[in-house]
Amino acid sequence: MALRIGLGHDIHRLATGRPLRLGGVQIPFSHGLDGHSDADVVLHAVCDALLGAAGLGDIGEHFPDNDPAYRGADSAKLLGRVMEQVRAAGWRVVNLDLMIHAQQPRLGPHKAVMRARIAELLAVAIQQINVKAGTNEGLDAIGRAEAIACQAIVLLESRSGG
Ligand code: MG
Repeated sequence: MALRIGLGHDIHRLATGRPLRLGGVQIPFSHGLDGHSDADVVLHAVCDALLGAAGLGDIGEHFPDNDPAYRGADSAKLLGRVMEQVRAAGWRVVNLDLMIHAQQPRLGPHKAVMRARIAELLAVAIQQINVKAGTNEGLDAIGRAEAIACQAIVLLESRSGG
């Protein structure tokens, strides 16, 4: 059985006047994440983990942040395009584990809905996805609630079983 592991990491700055989207879910908060697309730091980390595992480069190569086509882009759509390429390259998802670092807002109440949404976007069972969230214990930019970061790790297996 051919297996491939991939790692993703992303960080975005919190800013006023933006909706907060994490894991394809809108989270009620006074600030949102700043960025060229909808700045969904969770889905960006997922995209990079998938691209990494499949040997397909990184999110910046596929969706350049200076390309007007991706201004305000729905990261769920970007993830859909990544999944198409991962499938076309002959891979399917075994499991995905996520660690979100956010001092604010507290994400505990939102983990289950993010898990379900990411499972839907990847077209896998909810049990194949795990979402963890923690604060940064008040330390550095994340701890000052100036940014939110996410790490993702994914395992792919060959669809041919070879
Ligand atoms: Mg990003």
